[in-house]
Amino acid sequence: MADIIRLLPDNVANQIAAGEVVQRPASVVKELLENSVDADASEVQLIAQDSGKTLIQVSDNGKGMTETDARMALQRHATSKIRKAEDIFSIMTKGFRGEALASIAAVAKMQLKTRQANTELGTEIKVAANEVESQEYCQCPQGTSIKVQNLFYNIPARRNFLKSNQVELRHIIDEFERVAMAHPEVAFRFEHNGSELFNLPPSSLRQRIVNIFGKRYNEKLVPVDEETEVVRLEGFVGKPEFAKKTRGEQFFFVNHRYIRNGYLHKAVQKAFEGLLLEGSHPSYFLFMEIDPARIDVNIHPTKTEIKFEDERVIHSIIRTAVKHSLGQYNIAPSLDFEHDQQYSPPPQNKSVEAPGIYIDPNFNPFDKAPQSGGGGSSSGHTKMPSAYQGSRPTSQESRQWESLLSKIPEIPDTESQKELLESKELHAVSYLQIGKKYLLKSHGEGLMLIHQARAHQRILFEKMMRSLANQQVAAQQLLFPVQVSFNAGDYSEIVALLPSLREMGFDLDEFGQQELIVHGIPLFLENPNLEEILHRLLEESKNHSSHSKEDLQEKMAAEMAKVAALKVGTVIEPQAMAHLVDELFACENPYHSPDGRPTIVNLALGDLDKTFA
Ligand code: ADP
Ligand code: MG
Repeated sequence: MADIIRLLPDNVANQIAAGEVVQRPASVVKELLENSVDADASEVQLIAQDSGKTLIQVSDNGKGMTETDARMALQRHATSKIRKAEDIFSIMTKGFRGEALASIAAVAKMQLKTRQANTELGTEIKVAANEVESQEYCQCPQGTSIKVQNLFYNIPARRNFLKSNQVELRHIIDEFERVAMAHPEVAFRFEHNGSELFNLPPSSLRQRIVNIFGKRYNEKLVPVDEETEVVRLEGFVGKPEFAKKTRGEQFFFVNHRYIRNGYLHKAVQKAFEGLLLEGSHPSYFLFMEIDPARIDVNIHPTKTEIKFEDERVIHSIIRTAVKHSLGQYNIAPSLDFEHDQQYSPPPQNKSVEAPGIYIDPNFNPFDKAPQSGGGGSSSGHTKMPSAYQGSRPTSQESRQWESLLSKIPEIPDTESQKELLESKELHAVSYLQIGKKYLLKSHGEGLMLIHQARAHQRILFEKMMRSLANQQVAAQQLLFPVQVSFNAGDYSEIVALLPSLREMGFDLDEFGQQELIVHGIPLFLENPNLEEILHRLLEESKNHSSHSKEDLQEKMAAEMAKVAALKVGTVIEPQAMAHLVDELFACENPYHSPDGRPTIVNLALGDLDKTFA
């Protein structure tokens, strides 16, 4: 029989290899940015169009390539970064497999311009479908600029697999952020469809994080700093009270390479144990420096997974160091730091104060007292928060309410309670508030307990949903418009949400660089912290898997109800309790809060009898 095994032609082999290296535009971005950093550039610029589908261009002022190297760079397994197998174990560069440029050239049109400092003319090479079309001398600045056009133009199946522009842009931003964060000493700029998304000057790590994720991060970061024989660990963790519902900001870097590692992630989670509310995730930006001989970065084509020789040791170092940092800033209640460490105060700790975290198992993460006067859970005995007043629809109801509020009996003690019980206001006073949290009412022959915060959430939620259904959302104009800023990644997502937000009663527009300006808000919100609420709504939409607008609006309405509803810890007058309960029972589903937790618990006489048995 004839021999049937053949060596694959280079272009086929390259295309197959490209399948591993180049999955989407973001993979090209990653490889090109990493090459620029490896070339010791101090300035790197990324320009993309249509989320990288039509154009990705990365230019740097790094060391450039000679004429021959420029040509060689396009070959598979052509690299300047290692020479022999052992070199992999002392690798300090991002690349070393020599595959990226060959892979990209196999699946896109590519133009490369490069010049070294000591030469007058640079080299320009054009490649399409793995064939060099031309090579010429050119005038160009020192460094390298690589333009990648029409990705996957020769592989329609892969092109069709690409996701929406918004999703692909998000992936690009993720890769950009990872490289930029790993190298705060390098200036990075990113322009997409003609508008600048990032312009990051060389800076400290803290400043880089703030420049990427927004000013709000400055006060959120707690430094981590730990030096051991195995690893040098530094970076930041986010204070627990800023933990997010989405797993957005979790970054490990090893020798300035972004990596994923579920096991080490657990170490951070352990350090945060007991500090986070259920369903929220810690943020971290942790940099490890490890002797390259003790890790293997070559177990994955894109090198985001690596193998550690001392994984368990590193796990425990991370856990203790993070816990220690949280403890130092009075965040963690206790420490279990075994080895003796000298922690010098971090240089940038100006903004770090003892944070106010309350570890109350019943605390609702979304409960935040409205900023409006009169409301507020911490000020002891208060009237109904203004947020509640804001939900009143009719003026008649409103008068009723005012008159109720004008008589403000204290929570009655037993003596005066007796008097009151004998008075005409029997109905109102048949409610008692327990622990500033539950309302108690005798009910038939038993008792009914109502969770005040959840009950109010349900009421507000149904009002919101009703007005959405009737397309009559009551809105109020703000006296002073409020500007809210976002980081680039979030901004593209919130802009996509604008139509939904407007339908829900927000009057807001795009404004300047990554900012929204808010002119009006849904009526019942009453002076909310707009920054807070818009970021929450954004989180809600990121978390949201279904594509239906109605579902999303329902989620957002529930979120807003949480923010606006009266809180656990608010003292409520008996009359107001009666009103609250009446409104609750007027709801379609009085028994559950919008997120499905019980609002009412009944204790029948039989249950009480059992308790006394
Ligand atoms: P690797 O990075 O694994 O070596 P690549 O295919 O990404 O493989 O690049 C091949 C070679 O081309 C690199 O080793 C480097 O010598 C050269 N090169 C690529 N990009 C640049 C750049 N921006 N500046 C200078 N040299 C570069
Ligand atoms: Mg490379």
